[in-house]
Amino acid sequence: MKILFKNAKILNLDIKEGIINGNVVVENDTISKITTSAINEDFDLVIDVKGNLLMPGFVDTHCHSPMTVLRGICDDAPLDEWLYENVIPCENKLTSEDVYWAEKLAILEYLKAGITCIEEGYFKNESIVKALKECNFRARVGFGPTTKTSNVDNFTLLKNEKAIIEESNLIKSVCFVHSIYTINEKEILECVDYTAKNNIPRSIHLSETLNEVGDCTVKHNGKTPVQYLEDLGFFDRQTLCYHCVHMDKDDLQILADYNVSVSTCPSSNIKLASGIAPIYAMQNKGINITIGTDGVASNNSLDMFKEMFLVATLSKVSIYDASVVSAREVLKMATLNGAKALGFDVGEIKVGKKADIILININQPHYYPQVNLLSHLVYAGKSGDVYLTMVNGKILYENGKFHIGEDENKIYEQINKIRERITKK
Ligand SMILES: [Zn+2]
Repeated sequence: MKILFKNAKILNLDIKEGIINGNVVVENDTISKITTSAINEDFDLVIDVKGNLLMPGFVDTHCHSPMTVLRGICDDAPLDEWLYENVIPCENKLTSEDVYWAEKLAILEYLKAGITCIEEGYFKNESIVKALKECNFRARVGFGPTTKTSNVDNFTLLKNEKAIIEESNLIKSVCFVHSIYTINEKEILECVDYTAKNNIPRSIHLSETLNEVGDCTVKHNGKTPVQYLEDLGFFDRQTLCYHCVHMDKDDLQILADYNVSVSTCPSSNIKLASGIAPIYAMQNKGINITIGTDGVASNNSLDMFKEMFLVATLSKVSIYDASVVSAREVLKMATLNGAKALGFDVGEIKVGKKADIILININQPHYYPQVNLLSHLVYAGKSGDVYLTMVNGKILYENGKFHIGEDENKIYEQINKIRERITKK
């Protein structure tokens, strides 16, 4: 399959202007040509972008996709009450089939918002991988001791869990150690040992709330969660840490020393009143900052436009300095930085990259005057501006229609039924 996108404004964060006017050719799953002059070749499909914006799909580095079925389940409560009294009791009732449908609902939402790649952290991975594969969606899927059963040793469990994920061009795996407050030290050490021996990356929720940091310092001789995990040998250049809200200078230095990536999730952090991550301080340490939506139960939508706006503005207000964290830097966090953290060859429009491409309709009032589009994307853009989403060379969403091999109405019907069942007292 050879596809031409013609007459596009192509996002390029490496150049000062940020935009090139031209054409992009996709052959099978790869971007094969970018040119500013007309192309005289045969194509299977020609898409006239009509001067709209063509950019890489967003990489959402922290997700619990099947939580879509829990949207709005508990809105006004602190993390502990939200998690232990509201979320977990409902999650315990989710069957494998429920997780499959809830994953598909999330995929619809990702595609409509221009998200083409995610890091997934949930359970019942057979269902998750089945849904991802059927939809041709890109993800790094977490496995780990959250699903541990008492009669299986952790090493066997990790091996079995990893095997379920069946890696491919579109799907990779990561050892997802939920957090230091849900996974005990012995299990964390077993994960570290297994992943180090098998060269597998690790992810974890880290320093999300003041409670987490306070409990850790009391329990572990004054050590912060970052210092505690460093002592357990948890960090390396493949590690991705979600949230990182409450970090002191030493914590940030440790993450920088090990080349750890961070996934900042501003919507979730402000809605659960956890705090504001020190993004500018992380930038100064050279940390690879990426952006995540977190699960829908704490967000409550999967929308990188909202997250980008919040990363930029919260970073500014948190240190009372409007000059820090630019639109260009935030766009890079939402695309290329995320791709690097997850190890996928996506996140920018360059020859040889996998074709995860979105088209944004900029022929709308909030993109005029049509100058400084990088600013418009971050400060004025909305997820509804996305009108085409391509993953790995396949168009999965276009002008309100999904091409994922499933009727969207069937997904909605299933979701309503599941929600009714799991919330029944
Ligand atoms: Zn999370």
